[in-house]
Amino acid sequence: MNAEEINIPRIDLPRIVVVGSGFAGLKFVKRINSKHYQIVLIDKNNYHTFQPLMYQVASSSLEPDSIVYPIRKIFKKKKNFYFRMAEVEKVKAKRNLLVTNIGEIEYDYLVIATGAITNFYGINNVQKYGFTMKNLRESLNLRSVIIQNFEKSLTFSNIDKRNEYMNFVIVGAGATGIELAGALAELKRDSLQTDYPDLDLKQMQIHLIEASGKVLNNMSTKASNKSHEFLKKLGINIWLNTVVQDYDGTVVKTNKENFRTKTLIWTAGVKGAPLKNIDESLNKQNRIKTDEFNRMLGSDNIFSIGDVASIEKDENFKGHPMLASVASQQGNHLALNFNKRIKGNKMKPFQYKDKGTMATIGKNRAVVDLPFWSFSGVFAWVIWMFLHLMLLVDFRNKLIVFTNWTWSYFNSDKGLRLIIRQVKRKLD
Ligand SMILES: Cc1cc2nc3c(=O)[nH]c(=O)nc-3n(C[C@H](O)[C@H](O)[C@H](O)COP(=O)(O)OP(=O)(O)OC[C@H]3O[C@@H](n4cnc5c(N)ncnc54)[C@H](O)[C@@H]3O)c2cc1C
Repeated sequence: MNAEEINIPRIDLPRIVVVGSGFAGLKFVKRINSKHYQIVLIDKNNYHTFQPLMYQVASSSLEPDSIVYPIRKIFKKKKNFYFRMAEVEKVKAKRNLLVTNIGEIEYDYLVIATGAITNFYGINNVQKYGFTMKNLRESLNLRSVIIQNFEKSLTFSNIDKRNEYMNFVIVGAGATGIELAGALAELKRDSLQTDYPDLDLKQMQIHLIEASGKVLNNMSTKASNKSHEFLKKLGINIWLNTVVQDYDGTVVKTNKENFRTKTLIWTAGVKGAPLKNIDESLNKQNRIKTDEFNRMLGSDNIFSIGDVASIEKDENFKGHPMLASVASQQGNHLALNFNKRIKGNKMKPFQYKDKGTMATIGKNRAVVDLPFWSFSGVFAWVIWMFLHLMLLVDFRNKLIVFTNWTWSYFNSDKGLRLIIRQVKRKLD
């Protein structure tokens, strides 16, 4: 028996089905001219997430609704547009069909923009007992776990037992790892001491573990050195050239030291999150191989953009970095190509415009790498804040985040630290 078809009218326009409303999918739908196409956007969530600020949700600085925005509101004025909240299970490319958990849907063109998932590099116990921060639910879990840890610590009179809950190990000193480490250090300094007067917060250790020889390995040496200095000033223990080998829920084993903690946070890697049935089109990072027009190699009507996609120019080129700016530019570019193509014009190859990268390590401290200039400190932090505010989807979100940041700048107290939904650990 055939599965039920998703209830969307077939009209006399080519249908483009877009999977994923992240930076890439959202930009594509915004820019596509829906006078010429019927657009169907599918996402397992009914909101878009601004992932760069998820660490602030995890560290109680921001509430989740200030960094997400409902998809239906974003596109309320878009014509010939349908949104369906569904999880896409697989592609049946020969039949131009997508299988989802709410039924099947035919497409004329398919745009896969499903982003990335955490890569544990085969360390199964880290996946089992560790925590990650790749989506909003995981960030909220982490927020609960961090605060639960301190409540739990109070139940032990044995110092070593207490410390297992008060110590944090963050694996991966890329932008996500260092931003989270900085936020945790500020939480310790500004808020936890007041919240938990009967705990000795000096005992709380934040360890940042990195397999390579420097923090922020993908940025300039200047940015890396400066962020190293900022992290040290905040009291974070940095372990370079240190590779995590195993974790049993309490002891983190590395090629050097072992660390005791109930909270290992894994920010050390991501890989593409493609749909099932297109295995032959994937590269080693699980990303969909495309040409420079974002078209999946070997297909005429399947396109892929953002983190899940990789433009494979030649054997040595590993694709663009998994960044919001790349995803947005690809979404924009592909939509413009579709708009050109329907008018009989030639499509243009994608070219990434690198406008720079940045990271922040707590209040007044950030590093910025522009193509021709690298700088750090308070000015970099102001630029970081301004750009992140501007990139948030809606005015309401911008206003809430701005108000929150201004409040915590002057009173140094981060959020309310509520445990709304307790997270059960696998070993508790
Ligand atoms: C904690 C964190 C911090 C970051 N900080 C920065 C930063 O400071 N600067 C920067 O440039 N980049 C940053 N990034 C990376 C950036 O967020 C990503 O590069 C960007 O989100 C990629 O956009 P995308 O559209 O490809 O995928 P995503 O934004 O991940 O969106 C993918 C969408 O697809 C949906 N989806 C996935 N699978 C399915 C399915 N099977 N069915 C239905 N829907 C599905 C998901 O629900 C999601 O909405 C950060 C990422 C993280 C996790």
